[in-house]
Amino acid sequence: MSERYPWHAPSWQRLQQTRQRRHHALLLKGKAGTGKLDFAVTLAQSLLCHEPVADGYACGQCASCGWFEQNSHPDFRLLTPEQETPDENTSSKKPARKSTQISVAQVRELGGFLELSSHQNEGLRVVVIHPADALNQTSANALLKMLEEPPPGVMFILVTSHPQRLLATIISRCQQVEMPAPSTEQALSWLAQQQLADAEQWLAYTGGSPLQAREAASAGGMQALPTRLAQGQKLDPFQAASEFAALGMEEVMTALQKWIYDLLAVRLEVQPRYHLRQQVALQALGKSVDLSALLTFQRQVDDARRSATHPLNHELQLETLMLQYSKLFPG
Ligand SMILES: [Zn+2]
Repeated sequence: MSERYPWHAPSWQRLQQTRQRRHHALLLKGKAGTGKLDFAVTLAQSLLCHEPVADGYACGQCASCGWFEQNSHPDFRLLTPEQETPDENTSSKKPARKSTQISVAQVRELGGFLELSSHQNEGLRVVVIHPADALNQTSANALLKMLEEPPPGVMFILVTSHPQRLLATIISRCQQVEMPAPSTEQALSWLAQQQLADAEQWLAYTGGSPLQAREAASAGGMQALPTRLAQGQKLDPFQAASEFAALGMEEVMTALQKWIYDLLAVRLEVQPRYHLRQQVALQALGKSVDLSALLTFQRQVDDARRSATHPLNHELQLETLMLQYSKLFPG
């Protein structure tokens, strides 16, 4: 079963009040890393449940809930960017990458699912699309046709942290639901229940996203990154590059951007925003860093981030960047 988060309780109650006259398409939008997908899936399960409990949540006992929890519900589809298979014609060493787009083929396949009649008496089918901003121009237009002439008994739930990237015509076909982000207190109290150590640091590190904080804290490798970067000119670029490459290019680029942000902050005598624990190390580096070189480095990292999904040699790219980084501190 999907997780429920206390900061979503008011949104849940509001939607339950309109359960009987629900719109055929909802657009859930709000800050990344706050559990919107869990909310969408919980809603889908409750809509398909045969005997929802008093507060509208799924019973967890009926046949429908049974299918749902085994990921085999015939009236439910979750549309997300699909895993790309390695291209057989090129290097076979290239690992399968997660696509960033929902393809038109995926949306067309949905058409087949929607033409079938429901497997249950109520006749409801639910489609969750996450993230909806992963639809490209073609797949968004294919979906738009379905939203304009919705088959009877179909409910679409679109989820996004970037509504500005959606077609205006798609947005106008949906009932928009603003999903609240937790306050710092709510996030910290939830992280305390998860028994996360150093919750405050991790929450700062992820810019206030409790789910990302939990994930970052449990992904052991990411903790090594600031420790390495704190070495400054003593950092071994080749060792660091091979370590970082294993963590995933996009994650490393994000981590680097945050480190640079904080390095600039301490250089300008402002509190670091993301790395509360490395404040002392940052301040020491901030004293010796060459400011204009740091700004150039920042642009290089931004560029590298934009091309992070390209199948380049990531380790080589990281070696170049780390070599550059170690030279930022003339001492
Ligand atoms: Zn049920």
